[in-house]
Amino acid sequence: MGKTVLALDLGTTGNRAIAFDASFRPVAQAYAEFAQHFPRPGWVEHDPFEIWDSLLTCIRLVTRQVDVANIAAVAVTNQRETAVLWDRETGRPVHNAIVWQCRRTAERCAELKARHADEVHRKTGLVIDAYFSATKIAWMLEDVPEARALAEQGRLLFGTVDTWAIWNLTGGRVHATDPSNASRTLLYNIVEGQWDECLVALFGAKGVRLPEVKPSLSVFGTTQREILGREVPIATDLGDQQAALFGQGGFSPQNLKNTYGTGLFLLVNTGTRLALSDQLLTTVAWQKEGQPLQYALEGSVFVGGAAIQWLRDALKLIASASESEAMAQSLHDNEGVYFVPALVGLGAPHWDSTARGTFLGLTRSTRREHLVRAALEAMAYQTRDVVEALPLEVRGELRVLQADGGATANDWLMQFQADILGLPVERSAVAETTALGAAAAAGIAVGLWDEAGFLSRRAVDRVFAPAMPRAKADALHARWREAISRARAWA
Ligand code: ADP
Repeated sequence: MGKTVLALDLGTTGNRAIAFDASFRPVAQAYAEFAQHFPRPGWVEHDPFEIWDSLLTCIRLVTRQVDVANIAAVAVTNQRETAVLWDRETGRPVHNAIVWQCRRTAERCAELKARHADEVHRKTGLVIDAYFSATKIAWMLEDVPEARALAEQGRLLFGTVDTWAIWNLTGGRVHATDPSNASRTLLYNIVEGQWDECLVALFGAKGVRLPEVKPSLSVFGTTQREILGREVPIATDLGDQQAALFGQGGFSPQNLKNTYGTGLFLLVNTGTRLALSDQLLTTVAWQKEGQPLQYALEGSVFVGGAAIQWLRDALKLIASASESEAMAQSLHDNEGVYFVPALVGLGAPHWDSTARGTFLGLTRSTRREHLVRAALEAMAYQTRDVVEALPLEVRGELRVLQADGGATANDWLMQFQADILGLPVERSAVAETTALGAAAAAGIAVGLWDEAGFLSRRAVDRVFAPAMPRAKADALHARWREAISRARAWA
């Protein structure tokens, strides 16, 4: 009797609900977009109620296609860092969610970075950046009068989007998160595995109630009866990139996964070893019940596929993202045209919030094909930058790059990535590795299946083998590094 797990994937541009069966195949799925609010240049917000409504819509669509009696567990995975503050009594948010991409606190972060970078890095594995939740919370506490008032009454709850979803799924009974999400806030000490009062004070987040941190693979609570017709355990909570790592079977340092979505997120599991890096983030991969934290190294690149979206929506150079493939293919090389997509500054491994988007090498013969190709090439170069920032002992182990995310549909990009990196690139057969990873974890948590069974069923769609001579790949990449240096310190 086919037991299923319902994965709820709360993404940046929309939510997904996917039911997976015991062979880890999606048996029903639904997707609903929600609005992106850009109140000022560089600011990005979501309406938390719209996130919740869109999630409920997805759940309803999926439960029409599967027998809810067979749903053994629910898994939650989410866009990370995005901050929501709400009133414990009424469940009403005091402000829109401030999204991970939002740069409104960049200045504040620069000030803090000048004095506290080392201490914060040692405790959190992160760099001080507007990307993470802490300064988003502080901004709301300072700028939203209602937030301050509720904080004084001890009623103001903080959560990332997982916490907000779990709160609503349980009808306000559970205020909790997991270490993979907590480790993206700048308030969680990843060495000790707990919230850090000194960091809360340093970032000006005093007064909010932080969620209880429970193991990622554990029962967080049960869904309210109305949602699935009966109470079902929520048995996993994982940040989206950690869930994708799980979904790729990334259980050891030999597994390097890179997700090509809005941004690029490369993660490698370092087990219980906490490795700090100057250029990459150290983050919690996940925690199983009764076990220590497992860590990962992460390269977060802010603009990957989003550059293609930008060429489509803002510049109108292409009608669809998929068109980019044939356009890149139509040129036999880049003819010296490079694009540094520093549209919101640069993340890993450069961490320069003053860099800005830059096209280089334009001539009278430059056509839109060159610009589009340069945006695709930039994804591959940025990935190589991150791989080169990995510690030597990890790089020595690498045999393959496991790729997932929307932009991996582009065969040209996958081949170019293999060429630039000099490593085979393996494209996952399941496009939704984030949802898959969360579902696999939840099934393991409730004893439906085990890790070995999951690993043995992982399917690869296609392997792209490197074909370009190394000297040529290195020359292209060296020129890219030159382009990066020209894009820096502009704003
Ligand atoms: P997210 O989960 O971050 O919303 P997805 O994994 O759904 O992202 O991937 C969507 C991103 O991939 C978009 O930024 C889009 O521009 C890009 N993309 C989609 N298809 C292609 C393609 N064929 N070639 C290049 N980029 C693509």
